[in-house]
Amino acid sequence: MEQTLVILKPSAVERCLIGEIITRIQNRGLIITGMKMMQLDEAILREHYAHLVDKPFFPSIVKSMTASPVIVMVLKGVEVVEVFRAMTGVTNGRKAAPGTLRGDFCMSGQANIVHASDSVENALIEIARFFKPEEVFDYTPANIDFLYGDDEQKQ
Ligand code: ADP
Repeated sequence: MEQTLVILKPSAVERCLIGEIITRIQNRGLIITGMKMMQLDEAILREHYAHLVDKPFFPSIVKSMTASPVIVMVLKGVEVVEVFRAMTGVTNGRKAAPGTLRGDFCMSGQANIVHASDSVENALIEIARFFKPEEVFDYTPANIDFLYGDDEQKQ
């Protein structure tokens, strides 16, 4: 099964939305295989947001992403990268569809509560950036037969 990297940003932590977001993740049937709190710094953000380092708003991203600890998570599921991007909604919370995390819980294009990997390839790179191998647990939950059919479980 695929895995994806999720960050509950300071805008989720400070607004006490961690429980709401985790509840939605679990209600959807996504499997949490890694989760911890950590403090980000500019060095890791320069790597993680390398495509934005030259933008004029990059210092503001660093300020908002280091304003408090974050929760980093690894989720497992069939096509989980695409599924969780869809659950997240578009970057600007004001444009995000109702029903998505950003569309239901934020009003900002910057303080937009969650990060979600955008491809299977990037998810692997991002998981390795934030987690040691022994911090990710590739277990099979007891309710797997009620989450997926037999063929899906082999994906
Ligand atoms: P996404 O998080 O939806 O994959 P990007 O990779 O384009 O979007 O941007 C990463 C993060 O950088 C966004 O989630 C947001 O927090 C911040 N960001 C993106 N564009 C802007 C902007 N124009 N002004 C301020 N912050 C931005």
